Amino acid sequence: PPLSKEYLAGEQDLDDVILLDEDFCTAKSIEVMTGTRVERIDAAAGRAELAGGGEVPGDAFLLATGSRARRLPGVEGDRVIYLRTLDDATRLRGYLQPGARIVLVGGGFIGSEVASTARAAGADVTVLEALAVPFERILGRQMGQLCAQLQRDHGVDLRTGQTVESVDVGDSGVAVRTGAGDVVEGDVVVIGIGTVPNIEVAERSGIAVDGGVLVDEYCRTSVENVWAAGDVVNTWQPLFGRRLRVEHFDNASKQGMAAAKNMLGQATAYDDAHWFWSDQFGLNLQQSGVAERWDQIVVRGSVEDRDFMAFYLDAGVVRAAFAIERGGDMYVAQQMILAQAAPDPAKLADEDVELAELMAS
Ligand code: NAP
Repeated sequence: PPLSKEYLAGEQDLDDVILLDEDFCTAKSIEVMTGTRVERIDAAAGRAELAGGGEVPGDAFLLATGSRARRLPGVEGDRVIYLRTLDDATRLRGYLQPGARIVLVGGGFIGSEVASTARAAGADVTVLEALAVPFERILGRQMGQLCAQLQRDHGVDLRTGQTVESVDVGDSGVAVRTGAGDVVEGDVVVIGIGTVPNIEVAERSGIAVDGGVLVDEYCRTSVENVWAAGDVVNTWQPLFGRRLRVEHFDNASKQGMAAAKNMLGQATAYDDAHWFWSDQFGLNLQQSGVAERWDQIVVRGSVEDRDFMAFYLDAGVVRAAFAIERGGDMYVAQQMILAQAAPDPAKLADEDVELAELMAS
């Protein structure tokens, strides 16, 4: 998470962003083999076969290969950044100067967070987003428009409904030509157009894949003794009655823990409400649940003041919640989603009614 926010802004350094440090691994007797690529897993034979020869024996295997940044074909070079690694963030950090021209392709999480960090550094920012309303797919039109307005209020030149026709990358700058014929020039182009799950090891191992490695709620793949978790999986989620590929930090962490328990024989269903946060333009945004179907949005607080929680209700049942500057209420909102609670909408909107009490009742 810090690579598009605190680290990119220069507020954090390397030590702050490392998730799995050497001391931890030593203390927990975890052997980390870096520079080692797995070719395939032969679970029946109890081994992971390494690229270039060699094997590692195992009784249980976890695929946590994550995802990679989707690339625009042929668009590469020093002034092109796909923000995924620490090196990418370090490179981008070098460009974030007052007056620098940053062009962002994609107005999703990477696009909006980098836009925020870049504006705070005094750079000029243009965002080219394919959708008519950014975040519409996950937040709906009303809240997506709010996020778009947030960007524009902070001086971001957000252009929606844009496709990218070509990107010229020169020694001194870039020029992005859009489908509408605009040419946007910049010092660097950052491309945040989504991710692609790293399914190749699974495929070579004969494990079922469809938009991600298929797992059930116990994180089991189609092959015995192989589990999978995180960005790479397409998980059956009983709570939402559908499969989901969730690409957020909290999911990777929690699903990883659930997978570990299952690998140790402690059957633990993973049926999470899901949660993410995003820090943009001085505001904290949070979302939980899946906002794909609703017939009512109940707002608690003030949308105008950007201080509220919006509940997405489907036939009275809370299916998702989106909040700006209301992180403190998110835990209860998650409990409502998990319980498939159907609170009285009037009470839900009433700030004099404690959310926790409403949930309890
Ligand atoms: P993203 O959030 O999926 O957003 C990509 C956006 O780019 C979408 O709105 C997409 O529209 C648009 N797009 C796709 N192709 C385009 C094109 N050719 N031209 C212009 N726009 C285009 O992906 P991301 O921003 O690249 O982020 C990468 C990953 O990091 C995601 O998994 C994200 O969840 C994660 N991340 C999470 C956080 C957080 O949780 N706070 C922060 C940073 C990153 P369509 O939907 O129409 O394709």
